[in-house]
Amino acid sequence: MRIYLDHNATTPVRPEVAEAMDVVQRSIFGNPSSVHEEGSAAKAECDRARARVASLLGVDPGDVLFTGGATEANNTVLLGLLAHREAGPGHVVTTNVEHPSVAAPLEWLERTGWRVTRVPVDVEGRVDAAAVVAAITTETALVSVIWANNETGVLQPIEAIAEAAHERGVPFHSDATQAVGKLPVDLSSVSVDLLSLSAHKLNGPKGVGCLIVRAGVVFEPFLLGGPQERRRRGGTENVAGIAGLGVACELAENELPERSSRYCALRDRLWDGLQSKVSGVRRNGSAVYVLPNSLNVEFEGAAGEILLQALDLEGIAVSSGAACASGTIEPSHVLRAMGRTPEAARGSLRMSVGYGVDDTHIDQLLAVLPDIVERARRVGAV
Ligand code: PMP
Repeated sequence: MRIYLDHNATTPVRPEVAEAMDVVQRSIFGNPSSVHEEGSAAKAECDRARARVASLLGVDPGDVLFTGGATEANNTVLLGLLAHREAGPGHVVTTNVEHPSVAAPLEWLERTGWRVTRVPVDVEGRVDAAAVVAAITTETALVSVIWANNETGVLQPIEAIAEAAHERGVPFHSDATQAVGKLPVDLSSVSVDLLSLSAHKLNGPKGVGCLIVRAGVVFEPFLLGGPQERRRRGGTENVAGIAGLGVACELAENELPERSSRYCALRDRLWDGLQSKVSGVRRNGSAVYVLPNSLNVEFEGAAGEILLQALDLEGIAVSSGAACASGTIEPSHVLRAMGRTPEAARGSLRMSVGYGVDDTHIDQLLAVLPDIVERARRVGAV
């Protein structure tokens, strides 16, 4: 039996989600835009899911805009709203540890005349909220800060930044893809105008997610071509995927905060075990402001890619950085931004727990890892 400790890359689909999607795939085939009974049934599925997502996040169902995942949600904010705004290019404040689906569209905007301030993180992987706020100018059209980092799990001071951006009348966006489903994300008490999430990070299907667009945000679509989603996104809805996202959100709402404390206990068992069994380990990122499920560790003098491959042969899946970047041995830009050397970054592993993981899995990893690290150290860092 394989042991899966890479839940920040993607998560297994929960049986409840798969069943709901199966019902839709088999019997609810209508187009939600059609006015007949088949169409209405499909629209009702989407609306049910919309209500479930809204309930988890404390927003109005009308604020939920379904997308093809978080990459599309992030691109919608930057290449829809910003790139098409009437006033032309302006200024964006962000951090230097954003996911590539925020970082790459920002680079594109820069090539078209936008100015981007990337506030650096400290050694713990956090930005100073005051530094983000200080970077806001009269030209600033958006502040965008990742809620929880995909590689380290480090949480940013979202409430303080959102509050300050709001006071200055600047829209605030957060990529909350890694946070939703792992800890409470309640927008009834945080002034977030735009929020991205993805179903496959919370035991839902791949290729579906949403962008929360709060009332008052001047919206411009990214995908043009149809009146769907109240004219905010052209394209026939992925009804089964949307239904799956809805059930995943309902499960999260019912299971938080018990889910968070269970993940936290597993993660702490892993970190405690690593510290007592393996020498030369160092945790990357804050141990306080961190997702309950994530642990990023440097193994001094060993190559992360070698550790990853050796663990894979033992039946254990972990990651040596962002999934999107594996296959390359470029050191992680997130760890580099925290001041880690290229060697330290290459010697790091991300382990993330989630649905289906129990103590025995952690203990199995702890049983094989010391020897694997020893062998990797003999080979040396790459
Ligand atoms: N943002 C973050 C923080 C992520 O971890 C990911 C997934 N790696 C994405 C965005 C992209 O999500 P999706 O796979 O749904 O496009």
